[in-house]
Amino acid sequence: MDTMRAHVFHGVGRTAIEHVPIPKPRAGEALVRVTLTTICGTDLHIVRGEYPVKPGLVIGHEPVGVIVELGAGVNGYAPGERVLIGAITPCGQCRACLSGHLSQCGHGEGYEALGGWRFGNTIDGAQAEYLIVPAAQANLAKIPDALTDEQVVLLADIASTGISGAESGDIRVGDTVAVFAQGPIGLCATAGAKLMGAALVIGIDRNPRRLEVAQRMGADVVLDPGECDVVAEVRRLSAGGVDVAIEALGSQTTFETALRVLRPGGTLSSLGVYSGKLQIPYEAFAAGIGDHRIVTTLCPGGKERMRRLMEIVKHNRLDLTPLLTHRVSLDDIVEGYRIFGEQREGVLKVAVKP
Ligand SMILES: [Zn+2]
Ligand SMILES: [Zn+2]
Repeated sequence: MDTMRAHVFHGVGRTAIEHVPIPKPRAGEALVRVTLTTICGTDLHIVRGEYPVKPGLVIGHEPVGVIVELGAGVNGYAPGERVLIGAITPCGQCRACLSGHLSQCGHGEGYEALGGWRFGNTIDGAQAEYLIVPAAQANLAKIPDALTDEQVVLLADIASTGISGAESGDIRVGDTVAVFAQGPIGLCATAGAKLMGAALVIGIDRNPRRLEVAQRMGADVVLDPGECDVVAEVRRLSAGGVDVAIEALGSQTTFETALRVLRPGGTLSSLGVYSGKLQIPYEAFAAGIGDHRIVTTLCPGGKERMRRLMEIVKHNRLDLTPLLTHRVSLDDIVEGYRIFGEQREGVLKVAVKP
């Protein structure tokens, strides 16, 4: 049997590069040779045991590759074509998908929270030489020749997620927007706010290097909570509160501060993944009658989403390559996790080449 190298999860803190069989695509699936992938914050949660997956699973969910083989019923594609596949792979057929909630795909049944997230969660993922793409007809997005793997790899997850934070917030032309945390997703939310037509984008983080990148990605003003009173400063800059606050970390502090800088009737667009209990202080929320809106979003996937994001890059509206600060081979991925996990060397994202 032909084998491939893959990054396999075995238990908390235990992963390894191993030789495993190259899978065969069944009906509706495609086999893709991965040419570039990356490491996500969610992968760190998995390895640290903060998000449970079953031992033996290949992790990773941000694939760029080349089609090797198509299962029965996948039409309009050919082996050799370069494709980008979103981190979220909706089936396009179920109640959730056909109701427009693709990320909560129920795989033919009803709804499943996070159901569209399958790679490196419920099925083998992208940190491998080869990958099976489920519901391939809905998920293989052909990459325009003009674009390199590095230009598109971050669209699979963090850019789709970050930009969706701006879209779910219904940012309007002329809005004032505050983005809490300028990690990879927050930086993409900052770029998304600018793309949506915000007049003033305020980027907030404690890391000065990340604040520098925030300015490159579209932040007009950056604030460090260690150096100023963020609530007072944002309220001053926005004359009483922002139209939209985007939370891109997943902590009580950032969530609560995002609420405190919101104008009455404003929208808190939350992208963070929270743990434990999240509390809403009544005074930050006008006791529940401030016409505030709180919306949450899971990374939109599917080939049409990927096509649209690639169009933005192709037409020079968005450049994500400054976020790819490190490059490692698949064999050295454990070292890549260490650099990414410990936030060493000014790391933002690590490109992994099988
Ligand atoms: Zn991710
Ligand atoms: Zn579905």
